[in-house]
Amino acid sequence: MLMGYIPTTRLKSIKNKAAQRRALANLFHSCMHKVFSPIETYGKTGIAMATGNGIWYHCHPILATFIGDYPEQTLVTCTLNGRCPKCLVPRDEIGSNTRFPSRNFAAAVNAFSLSDGDPTAFHAACRDASLKPTYHPFWEQLPFSNIFLSISPDILHQLHQGILKHVVHWVAQVESDEIDARCGCLLLNHNARHFQNGFTWLKRLTGQEHKDVSRILLGVVVDLTLPGLQSSARLARLVRAILDFIYLSQYPVHTTESLGDMDTALTQFHENKDVLIELGVRQHFNIPKLHSLLHYTRSIRHFGTADNYNTEQSERLHIDYAKKAFRATNFKNEYKQMTVYLERLEAIHQHAAFIDWCKGG
Ligand SMILES: [Zn+2]
Repeated sequence: MLMGYIPTTRLKSIKNKAAQRRALANLFHSCMHKVFSPIETYGKTGIAMATGNGIWYHCHPILATFIGDYPEQTLVTCTLNGRCPKCLVPRDEIGSNTRFPSRNFAAAVNAFSLSDGDPTAFHAACRDASLKPTYHPFWEQLPFSNIFLSISPDILHQLHQGILKHVVHWVAQVESDEIDARCGCLLLNHNARHFQNGFTWLKRLTGQEHKDVSRILLGVVVDLTLPGLQSSARLARLVRAILDFIYLSQYPVHTTESLGDMDTALTQFHENKDVLIELGVRQHFNIPKLHSLLHYTRSIRHFGTADNYNTEQSERLHIDYAKKAFRATNFKNEYKQMTVYLERLEAIHQHAAFIDWCKGG
């Protein structure tokens, strides 16, 4: 359900870039604070809520997970760009397979509680906690919540449009002509998209195209002839490991064993990634999205399988709730018209559901 629109202003009137960024972050947090304010009270006192089958329960609504792409994650958690929103990994260790302690929620709240006092002390406290100085983040007073823990895995942005995109790009840099030629040689098939001219030259692939590429990627990489006639076994192992991880993370049900397989696949990726440095494709692997994979199994244990918090659904709603609603207006003072449009649409859907229910007797 759409709760509100957040201003898209860039605050161009503020000329100093750093001050502009800070003001935008503060504006975002103050909007979110308004949206979440009922939770502050009802999370503690509870409120009566009905389930779909009409039974009333006394519920305590809390902020459980936050889904979004990396820039939104850093904005929400007030972390510095290039750092992990969930743990205290140093900037130059982001590409390693080492787990670091989680961010301390209590310490963050203590640092932000100084924002009304002396600015120097406040900035120093934020620096010590490696957080951006933000004026009272919206999650500061939310009961039973830990924003750092709440940042969830995101299959669309982190896997398909993130790591897989990187891997396709890296592999293409090693040997693009041969890979494209192999794609063209594949027989037509109902279960795999036919990239007649290959895929290494394609720019800006969609999530669906990345899914299609991942079906054939391993097949076209195996046994490649690498520069200097070296064996491509390690490259194939790297691609296989990352594909294993991507497919395992989408399981609708998980067991201890399948979660263990995810960690094993990730370890295999890290064990073989040096091949890309030797081939001159990469100098380092300090990519925040690659680091985020380390947090997947823990998040799945906490919040359930990753299909519960995939951004694919919410990205789709952006079309219905923002783009279509905007098109339904006369483009002048559009905000009010958009909300009226959505309210009417909702009423029509509810009435249609009611008529269907009546017809069913
Ligand atoms: Zn981390």
